[in-house]
Amino acid sequence: MTDVVNTTPDNVGDFDAAGSPPPHEHSRTGLSADALRRAISDHLTYSIARPAAALTSDHYYRALALAVRDRMQQRWMATTQDWLDLSNKVTCYLSAEFLMGPQLGNNLLNLGIEKQAREALAALGQELDEILACEEEPGLGNGGLGRLAACYLDSLATLERPSIGYGIRYEFGIFDQEIQNGWQVEKTDNWLVSGNPWEIDKPDASYIVNWGGYTEQYEDLAGHHRVRWIPQQVIKGVSYDTPIQGYGVNTCNTLTLWSARSVESFALEAFNTGDFYKAVEDEVVAEKVSKVLYPNDEPDAGKRLRLQQQYFFVSCSLQDILRIHTERADLPLEALPQKWAIQLNDTHPSIAVAELMRLLIDEHHLGWDEAWGITLETFGYTNHTLLPEALETWPLGIFSESLPRHLEIIYEINNRFLDEVRARFPGDEDRLRRMSLIGEDGGKSVRMAHLATVGSHAINGVAALHSELLKASVLQDFYEMWPERFGNVTNGVTPRRFLALSNPGLRTLLDESIGDGWLTELDQLRALENFVDDPAFRQRWRDVKRANKGRLAEFVHSTTGIELDPTWMFDIQVKRIHEYKRQHLNVLHIITLYNRLKQNPSFAIAPRAFIFGGKAAPGYFMAKRIIRLITAVGATVNNDPDVNRYMKVVFLPNFNVQNAHLIYPAANLSEQISTAGKEASGTGNMKFMMNGALTIGTLDGANVEIREEAGPENFFLFGLTVDEVERIQAQGYRPSSYLENDPELAEVLELILQGAFTHGDTEVLRPVVDNLIHHDPFLVLADYRSYVDCQAKVSAAWQDGDTWSRMSILNAARSGKFSSDRAIEQYCDEIWNVDPMPVDLKF
Ligand SMILES: *Cc1c(COP(=O)(O)O)cnc(C)c1O
Repeated sequence: MTDVVNTTPDNVGDFDAAGSPPPHEHSRTGLSADALRRAISDHLTYSIARPAAALTSDHYYRALALAVRDRMQQRWMATTQDWLDLSNKVTCYLSAEFLMGPQLGNNLLNLGIEKQAREALAALGQELDEILACEEEPGLGNGGLGRLAACYLDSLATLERPSIGYGIRYEFGIFDQEIQNGWQVEKTDNWLVSGNPWEIDKPDASYIVNWGGYTEQYEDLAGHHRVRWIPQQVIKGVSYDTPIQGYGVNTCNTLTLWSARSVESFALEAFNTGDFYKAVEDEVVAEKVSKVLYPNDEPDAGKRLRLQQQYFFVSCSLQDILRIHTERADLPLEALPQKWAIQLNDTHPSIAVAELMRLLIDEHHLGWDEAWGITLETFGYTNHTLLPEALETWPLGIFSESLPRHLEIIYEINNRFLDEVRARFPGDEDRLRRMSLIGEDGGKSVRMAHLATVGSHAINGVAALHSELLKASVLQDFYEMWPERFGNVTNGVTPRRFLALSNPGLRTLLDESIGDGWLTELDQLRALENFVDDPAFRQRWRDVKRANKGRLAEFVHSTTGIELDPTWMFDIQVKRIHEYKRQHLNVLHIITLYNRLKQNPSFAIAPRAFIFGGKAAPGYFMAKRIIRLITAVGATVNNDPDVNRYMKVVFLPNFNVQNAHLIYPAANLSEQISTAGKEASGTGNMKFMMNGALTIGTLDGANVEIREEAGPENFFLFGLTVDEVERIQAQGYRPSSYLENDPELAEVLELILQGAFTHGDTEVLRPVVDNLIHHDPFLVLADYRSYVDCQAKVSAAWQDGDTWSRMSILNAARSGKFSSDRAIEQYCDEIWNVDPMPVDLKF
């Protein structure tokens, strides 16, 4: 770990109302508590502009945030200047989502100034934790995929790899979830209302983005045949940059988010001709493009606008890259792949393949072959899902009206590509049909996963199992064509945010027992294995978990009114609500226990709190009913004195990164119970493991690797394997056979249908049960018995406190593989070919 270099003594321009002794460090850069205190006072006066009597915690939050941003700014500029000067290769991570979470605490941690900030605030009569709680998190992502992008930015900076994250500055992020009468209600997330102190807008860094219209052929002055795109709409993208500070290093990278605006010249013209309202209207229409993040799993959500969002941010990002590249030491375009690696986070940015071709050919006048060589070498594509409904395709009609030039380019890519396929597999017409970039089933459509695959030199899945399934299913034909392009990079999460920041108690225990190297070398947690049989250590381990559960219990009480006993087992499932994630399987287990307790007054179980959290897409009918099922069972269980001595059920509203900080560290049991083959990786599973939770899970996604690392004896495995799922589905899944053979299961479903949890209403939850009994692609009933039996083993292990502690410690000790640092090193070595670039601060 390089020392964060301190700054020169200089107090010119410092404001110090308190009239303290002469300061020694500049208030913009100094890392001491004193310099920070002066900086906060300074910002309260000059940035917030409120007199002392009018100051609120929120003002202190903003002042501290600005002071912290100042401290990153110098590192930020040094980092950018270095890669510009030294001509290092830069990684660009293109992602439609970045679920960053609160920034202040993380930036203090990464700069190494948490103590100083606490002291500085104390000197001003403020408490750091209260100030941290003022931050409104930017919810610019749906869940795992967006959070992964954020973890990767943290690791890139910490590993001193110059990089830029490119995405969209949605004015409204993922909706805020409230629970009213047991149902999810969506509220708009107006995250920008009180300003965003972390970003710096760069109105001068803007790009023009076309949309719609038609193309024309023409001959240029030199007689070359060229194509010109005459758009129907032209908008502008302006950049908002956020610094991404590495932990314990000077590297400070950039997250660039694009915001849509109208082009002034258009507006001005309308204004001159007197059509003022037309000008305002254009502004409104243009700004729609970055207005709102679309929730996942929406059936047919605003298709055209979504395509425009994707194209908008991709085009701005590629234009930005090409501008920097050509300005930087006048590098030729052929050198692009030596200087830039561009990663496509799922298919959302995959239009980049056609857009880079268009820019190189139409705007920079390269020949096709040269442009294609550059494109292929520059892009990598990460696939995140095998679910057919999540593989993006665009109806040809919408696509050709929206991006006419790109469709021409895609046709040309496809012609050349299919020629290659024909040469490799002569006479295999079916293969051509399967591999084509244009789907012919139903109406014609553009297959974005195929475009991303054909245009990338490296394609990877996000867990070992997922990458194997990719090669054997949705991308099998492509794998047969180019096996060398396929690889795997198992996801990871940042131990800075998900251990150090969110679990300060465990951080202290780790630091005191194994040192603090684990923050950047998570494998060092292995040293904990030396302590598993140390009773004093085990006690401290339990105490930390117990305190974290107390913290969560308080939060649960304040948000839901439900009281939880922190000595109970905390059994937690937090993630988006989806049938494949099978929250309803978890509920069937809960009802099973409820039923046993009701039927047999002498029956007892080890007390458990079942805690759920997660958002359902607003238009996803079944997911919303599953939430209703959870809240209904919760209301019944929590208020029934026969059972509430043994169990409680909580649905925590509005699961997001901020409350994730309280949730993962408080878990004893992590529920990772998706149908085998459906969860690409999962990352929540990793956060739980690092924080010492045991997993009950199927052999799906990264669970497989978690179990391998933890040791099978430290993992509660249940359920069908991928092969068994496939076999059952091939034979025709018959849910009724499980009902017939399992009276306890039949009773559980009967209770729901009779309205036992809905005050006699027999209709409201019927769709969920009907789905399970008649047409459930996720085989909930097939896994029910195995799950319930496995839960009995969990309870038995829990009752032996020492065994449980041992397993808990070993899980955390063996979680090193799941650091995003490991994942990013792998991307750097295997896909991007980028080296570290340590940054010195020059004064
Ligand atoms: C980690 C995380 C997720 C992903 O959870 P999975 O269990 O992997 O689906 C979703 N949302 C938030 C807020 C997270 O922190």
